Amino acid sequence: MSRAVALREFVIPFIGLKLGETSFKFHIEDKFFTYFEGSELITGSNVEVEMVLDKRTTMIVLTFYVQGTIKATCDRCLNEMDQELLDEFTVFVKFSQDADGMDEEEDVIFLPTNETHLDVGHLVYEFVNLSIPLQKGCKPEEIGGPGCNKVVLEKLGYFAEGKEGDGENENDDDNNNDEDIDQRWSALKKLK
Ligand SMILES: [Zn+2]
Repeated sequence: MSRAVALREFVIPFIGLKLGETSFKFHIEDKFFTYFEGSELITGSNVEVEMVLDKRTTMIVLTFYVQGTIKATCDRCLNEMDQELLDEFTVFVKFSQDADGMDEEEDVIFLPTNETHLDVGHLVYEFVNLSIPLQKGCKPEEIGGPGCNKVVLEKLGYFAEGKEGDGENENDDDNNNDEDIDQRWSALKKLK
């Protein structure tokens, strides 16, 4: 499939839309990223992007809702995991007679007044990329838990200080408790 055909769904003929909100949904998989130059290798992507196009009399407001997962490597334990993506972006599209001559402000796109179509492919690409966290990791509540690979963490020295600290003491406490209980049982048995 050629790039133009593959990305055809992202070309929105907004001129034919009535005023108000129209919703578009795009399903993004790995192949999508390969159509953009300089893209990082992204694998295992399963991302839904909903774009709400709000057509107003003087401009268009685009809101992108990014939600899904990509495969990533946890920064802490190097575990292969699904990194959740969840983000929201807004772009204003304004019309100007002299679109080429205008500076592009942040979050504002200028189109010539006679433009009828809007290609949002690159915006979707950018926003999916922006929704990927810089630090990728197993979920915070799972640090050292089932989400992080404990074997790897141990090899990396993650628990090195724990030998005289929390980790080992907890085990010691558990053992002590077991022993305490055993001793109490013995004591009870002696009473019989
Ligand atoms: Zn991890």
